[in-house]
Amino acid sequence: MALTLNFHGAAECVTGYCARLSGDGFDILVDCGMFQGPKTLKALNYEPFPFDVETIDAVLLTHAHIDHSGMLPKLMKAGYRGPIFATAPTRDLCEVMLADSGEIQEGEVAFLNRRNQHRGRPLVEPVYTARDAKRTMELFERVKFDEVVEVVPGVRARYWPAGHMLGAASVEVMVGEGEDVTTILFSGDLGAGGQDYLPDPTGPAGVDHLVVEATYGDRERQAVDTAGRRALLAEELRQAHKAGGPLLMPTFAVGRAQELLLDLLAVMEAGDAPRGQIFLDSPLAIEATDVFLERGWNRDTEDNPFRPLRHAANVHYLMKPGDSDRLERLRDWHIILAGSGMCDAGRIRRHLKRLLWRREVTVLITGYQAVGTLGRLLADGKKLVRIQGEDFQVRARIRTLDVYSAHADANGLVEWVRARQPIRGDIFMAHGEPNSLDGLAQRLERSGFYPAKLVKPALDQAFDLTRDQAQRVEAAPSRLQPGRAATLDWHNARADLLARLAAQIEDAPSDEARLQLLLAVERAMKESAQTPA
Ligand SMILES: [Zn+2]
Repeated sequence: MALTLNFHGAAECVTGYCARLSGDGFDILVDCGMFQGPKTLKALNYEPFPFDVETIDAVLLTHAHIDHSGMLPKLMKAGYRGPIFATAPTRDLCEVMLADSGEIQEGEVAFLNRRNQHRGRPLVEPVYTARDAKRTMELFERVKFDEVVEVVPGVRARYWPAGHMLGAASVEVMVGEGEDVTTILFSGDLGAGGQDYLPDPTGPAGVDHLVVEATYGDRERQAVDTAGRRALLAEELRQAHKAGGPLLMPTFAVGRAQELLLDLLAVMEAGDAPRGQIFLDSPLAIEATDVFLERGWNRDTEDNPFRPLRHAANVHYLMKPGDSDRLERLRDWHIILAGSGMCDAGRIRRHLKRLLWRREVTVLITGYQAVGTLGRLLADGKKLVRIQGEDFQVRARIRTLDVYSAHADANGLVEWVRARQPIRGDIFMAHGEPNSLDGLAQRLERSGFYPAKLVKPALDQAFDLTRDQAQRVEAAPSRLQPGRAATLDWHNARADLLARLAAQIEDAPSDEARLQLLLAVERAMKESAQTPA
């Protein structure tokens, strides 16, 4: 049985997850995600797929996050008409998330085209529209956890709870018949476990090959339970209130927003934090909240923990952009939750633009921030940031709270891999930046796995699989140089340099000093033009 596994995304980076497994007469995708972060990486979203869309028979979708599902409408637009297998909550969440993503694509392209027009450059088309997203929903087929489904003749799949977000699964793919079956387990994204909102991640014991995520492969987080997490949140609220407020929380719309709302309500209710109005300024988060109210059942606790969100008097759901503008007039202590979680898009940018310069404001970051995103720059302590072509001084208090991660930490990942033993073949590490991949590899080695069996695939690399071996094979050339997926690109470098130059010019003691500074830059530019690179 000849099997080939390709990594067309989330290879040496955490976005664009897309694995392709092909064999005798079949070609299937596990996830079809969008690249996010540096512009060079995002540019891949506009390029054709690195495979022949016509040959794809099926898509196995692990969960609804855009970095795993966001290119499905593009796949449909390119002619794909096969099934997209997903759990019911994943399907319902995709319905709101992909439509939102389509709107974002349309909005971004409209913005870009206005600029392209001014500069006399050709106009571009959105990757897909909200309408394309809607049409894609017709391809979804629901699967239940634990049930074995036939994907194509000779290939079956089973979905296991991954505890990462509502509906999230690890997917076990079984290829072949009778004695000759090769199993490959894709972890998808794994949750931290021990939460009221989600089941603990699980999976089969005994697989041939494993593809495991490595987002936090190099980091151990403090282990906290619900009470501990709420105590930390309450402390942040008290400090933000003392600083004068308001508190701004960039929030992932699906999962994180709902958890934060529950925790905010709980700490205010318990009197541990100053009471105030809470604004959820994200249409996507509001629509997703409806899905959580309907499908948020936790099978471990046999309860829907999201029920309190239905009737909370101090939570306000802001659907229209006009609602968002009205927040400018608020003077009392209040909390704003807005997307996107990494501050790259959405209404959060508007609030950051109007509030970042104020010392009494607190920005509390609770989620993973990929390299090159505005959220990461803020978390790293940048004092000047660029938002949609404008510079902004950062005087607000920037705080991070890492107890809300939807991802397992390094210990959790190792534990999950150990529980999948025996593993006959290789362990592929995906969905991690290079440091995280190295960190996870070291930890797996320390717990007894052979280094030769630990693989860190680069973008577009391919491997031939037998039941106990994986062999790197030459495939189409990679769309990026190895190691370039998670680094800051020249766009970031330019924005950074220009911002620092502007600040230095402003801070110079005299006009003469300003002129000298500019002449020095001029000289350096001339010299570098004469030196061959
Ligand atoms: Zn995810």
